Amino acid sequence: MATPSDAPALDLASYELTLRRAAAGRVAEASDPELAQVLERIRARRAGRSGSPVPQPAAAALGLERAPAPDAMTGGPPGQVLAIEQVGPAVRIFRLGRPTGLQFKAGQYLRAGVAGRKAKKFSLASAPHEPIVELCVELIPGGEVTPLLFAVRVGAQLELSDTAKGAFLLDEQASRHFFVATVTGIAPLRSMLRDALHRGVGQEFVILHGASNAEDLPYRAELEALAVADPRVRYVPTISQPQAAANQGWSGRTGRVDPLAVEVAASIPTAGTHVYACGNPGMVANVVRDLGAAGFDVSSEEFS
Ligand SMILES: Cc1cc2nc3c(=O)[nH]c(=O)nc-3n(C[C@H](O)[C@H](O)[C@H](O)COP(=O)(O)OP(=O)(O)OC[C@H]3O[C@@H](n4cnc5c(N)ncnc54)[C@H](O)[C@@H]3O)c2cc1C
Repeated sequence: MATPSDAPALDLASYELTLRRAAAGRVAEASDPELAQVLERIRARRAGRSGSPVPQPAAAALGLERAPAPDAMTGGPPGQVLAIEQVGPAVRIFRLGRPTGLQFKAGQYLRAGVAGRKAKKFSLASAPHEPIVELCVELIPGGEVTPLLFAVRVGAQLELSDTAKGAFLLDEQASRHFFVATVTGIAPLRSMLRDALHRGVGQEFVILHGASNAEDLPYRAELEALAVADPRVRYVPTISQPQAAANQGWSGRTGRVDPLAVEVAASIPTAGTHVYACGNPGMVANVVRDLGAAGFDVSSEEFS
């Protein structure tokens, strides 16, 4: 049986060609071996079996629609894909027409899927006051739902529940909020942040955001810009594989978010601070345990 290390080297040009075809809705035209290779490289990297990272596609070269800033979007038909932003090889942001009548609180999730197929929970990354809804999705190779979402293109129709659920919400009593997230775990926290800034609540936001590679940190540019512009916001991105080729030139923090959360928390008063951990279940469990033991109020949501 073929193993990832048996797979022939995949060059950047063929990888980009596959993604361009997918972006143009012509996935069926991409040969199976091509797609299989891309997915196998992603799967191998996730399993830590491959020393060579999946090449970072140049966003502009992919042909994927680049979304305007959410604030500039005025809406669209419910569930319609209005824009897709490629973040890293396995992370995309979907900007969607808002389901009719959808009311939600920042931090909640809805169910999303390709029409007629299974739907799963995805956190709303946009804020309740915004005219569109935004989901940030990580591709799970072989998964039931995310490969189908990654095959859609702008104009496609997704099925979204018209009610949102979840109790992972901003603590309105706290004056300081410490967000700890891995990869797409930033989604509900971004919603809370945008909502809080919109409503003028919360005095301080510290955001610790981790991924294996810098390219897998959705909303990094937005959060970095916000941290520069707004003294209430501090953004600390970190990568756990600084030696990987994809991370050459990285000058930020390195290491996993859970131990770093303990370090950052040591500089934050426990009184008045609420901690929120979201994303990888192992990270969430460690943050709940360690920062809970340090005396913080901690809320959590696992993406599993
Ligand atoms: C409240 C809530 C909110 C969520 N919000 C988001 C969100 O905003 N964005 C998002 O991308 N996902 C989110 N998820 C996860 C999402 O609901 C799916 O479970 C996930 O996307 C996997 O879907 P799938 O059907 O493609 O894979 P599955 O068919 O469920 O998984 C295939 C295999 O991969 C494993 N697997 C599943 N997820 C992961 C993972 N993250 N990493 C590694 N292995 C995995 C499974 O154990 C299984 O063996 C959320 C989950 C919950 C409970």
